[in-house]
Amino acid sequence: MPDRSTIFALSSGRPPAAIAVVRLSGPNARVALEKLTGRLPEPRKAALVRVRDPESGETIDEALALWFPAPHSETGEDVAELQLHGGHAVVAGVLDAIGRIEGCRLAEPGEFTRRAFENGRLDLTAVEGLADLIGAETPAQRRQAFRQLKGLIGDRAEAWRQRLIAALALVEARIDFSDEADVPEDLISPAVHAAQQLRREIAAALAGGGRGERLREGLVVAIAGPPNAGKSTLFNRLVRREAAIVSPYAGTTRDIIEVHLDLDGYPVTLLDTAGIRDSAEPVEQEGVRRARERATGADLVLWVTDGSAADRMVFPEKNLADASMIWLTLNKADLAEPVKTRITELSKSISEYGFIYTVSALNGTGIDQLINGLAGFAKEYFSTVEAGIVTRTRHRHLFEQTVGALDRALAEAVRFGEHEELIAEELRSAATALGRLTGRVDVEDILDVIFRDFCIGK
Ligand code: GDP
Repeated sequence: MPDRSTIFALSSGRPPAAIAVVRLSGPNARVALEKLTGRLPEPRKAALVRVRDPESGETIDEALALWFPAPHSETGEDVAELQLHGGHAVVAGVLDAIGRIEGCRLAEPGEFTRRAFENGRLDLTAVEGLADLIGAETPAQRRQAFRQLKGLIGDRAEAWRQRLIAALALVEARIDFSDEADVPEDLISPAVHAAQQLRREIAAALAGGGRGERLREGLVVAIAGPPNAGKSTLFNRLVRREAAIVSPYAGTTRDIIEVHLDLDGYPVTLLDTAGIRDSAEPVEQEGVRRARERATGADLVLWVTDGSAADRMVFPEKNLADASMIWLTLNKADLAEPVKTRITELSKSISEYGFIYTVSALNGTGIDQLINGLAGFAKEYFSTVEAGIVTRTRHRHLFEQTVGALDRALAEAVRFGEHEELIAEELRSAATALGRLTGRVDVEDILDVIFRDFCIGK
């Protein structure tokens, strides 16, 4: 049973603010708006109104009222909107007055969007895009979220699903109506051809390789290195605020601290890891274990070491060096110019490092170059992402399931003998996976296609 109550909520930010937007959605939105303002504005045209408490008749505020009759509204239901003065008492008074109108109740989190989805105004990927747009912290994230909201993934997935359903309809027709005279014999090969083409296109979308996901979450850069190298000091320098504890004692950064940075429009998540070193102390051991794990999973490791004296330089262990891209950061350049030739002697692997930066986290020398380097890295990493459509693990898994099912269908098709049922089964599960992506799964539509294309009207 669909919930027929009318929901309402403050849709703008917390008061006090210049303006507060209160929205209502549902069958009683119209009555509520009339009771509060004494009139119903023309659809989609702002009207200046007095908002009154329907019981006491007291004027609460003067506001702009908007009226969006169903189905041409954000939720697909009747929607009313009040743009009020954004004061605490104004907002509280209006919400209280609406709450006393029959059939109206406060909306739950995301409930307007949920109704939009249930009424077919947004598919699931657009709902996700909307959430991402609200959460976007950098211009690149914003662009990606906006494209997703506007159907970049959803429309493509739905078009693929329609083509799959058409292919499935051919196979089903072959199974169900093979004894009828007006059904052509070879329905399987056009279906197989369509499946091959779809498999290619979906696999190509997947090949975007998680960069869309990274753009959502941020490219992960881990600051790692031995204790006292100046990691926390560097981290704070890069973040330009005191986010980590800087301490002259070794082993104090036991937890991983992360911040989100906007580097030239691209999101970078910077991690300050615990001093990676051998320790007998259990709490610190745990910190070290987590630091190693996080550093190994990062897109880039900034390996910080005291560069002021050759005997203080410490280099990454082989397994970290093998697993990650590492930039060497020689810190404490204010004490002494690092002797770079010693690096080759000490680590014998200078070519493994993408870049070597000389910095002083303490006085800021070389930090601009390092930040520029990081911004360049992010820019290059994300330069291929613009066309990417996979922005979440959920999408990737469903596309992988689709490709997997198509592969099995194609494998059945080349086996000798009659395998229509198995081919149909796999095409169906491929279509279901795509339907889950957009939230549009519906078995009736297969019958609809058969009906439309084959006129089984007798
Ligand atoms: P971490 O253990 O690697 O996080 O190192 P910290 O950031 O806590 O720094 C350890 C010590 O080195 C502190 O006393 C810092 O003030 C000092 N330090 C950090 N960076 C520099 C630097 O560039 N130059 C100098 N002279 N001291 C630094």
